[in-house]
Amino acid sequence: MIVTERKPLEELAAMFAGEKGTYLVACSGCPVGHKTGDEASLAQLEADLKAQGVNVLGRTSIDFLCNKALVALRLMKVLEDVQSADSLLVSSCGIGVQAVGATVDKPVHPSMNTISMGGFQGLWPSEERCAQCGDCSLDLTGGICPVTFCSKSLLNGSCGGSDKGNCEVHKDVPCGWTLIYERLKKTGRLDQLSKLNLLKNRDLMRVKPEARKGSVWALELIEPEPEPQPEGKPA
Ligand code: SF4
Ligand code: SF4
Repeated sequence: MIVTERKPLEELAAMFAGEKGTYLVACSGCPVGHKTGDEASLAQLEADLKAQGVNVLGRTSIDFLCNKALVALRLMKVLEDVQSADSLLVSSCGIGVQAVGATVDKPVHPSMNTISMGGFQGLWPSEERCAQCGDCSLDLTGGICPVTFCSKSLLNGSCGGSDKGNCEVHKDVPCGWTLIYERLKKTGRLDQLSKLNLLKNRDLMRVKPEARKGSVWALELIEPEPEPQPEGKPA
């Protein structure tokens, strides 16, 4: 089961500085099952942000945000709202946020930290990957994950070895940090580069006991049967 956790409200509210309005796009796939993207959670998120002065222009839920073709089709239906927003706030795992960012030429803000993908990378895995770091930085990196798109998982910018936009390590793939730079430039957010975090708190990757629900986690809790002992030997 996927495990996500809503970001602290102060962190979320700060993402919208200088914006006139945002549009909320939610995944109604996995996060609903974990009660982090269900209707009640989204209504609460919207209310909390409005109380902080964030103008949420509307919201839509899409079955699987990891499917970019589906995202494009569904967002066409609310095109006017999307076009009038300065950004999209995305409530999903890190893959859904990246898929929306790859589909729409607007800044994307993640509302969640992704802690566990439950053993799979999206139902429609494409190029986007999430390493379940528990401290999603997609807001700072143009909706492109530095942990998975950079071969060295650098968090604070390019290593400087990129050759004509391709990676120093894998020469036939694009440099993740070049992609991040280009996306930030395209969406008018190059200033985000001055806010990059140098470290991630690895403790945030741990799934807390209260999130260990369902059959997957239950398997870990089963006490192993004692080994049968040969007759005559004490157990
Ligand atoms: S920064 Fe990357 S690894 Fe961390 S939660 Fe976001 S998408 Fe996942
Ligand atoms: S060239 Fe780019 S993607 Fe490759 S390791 Fe350096 S910063 Fe990362």
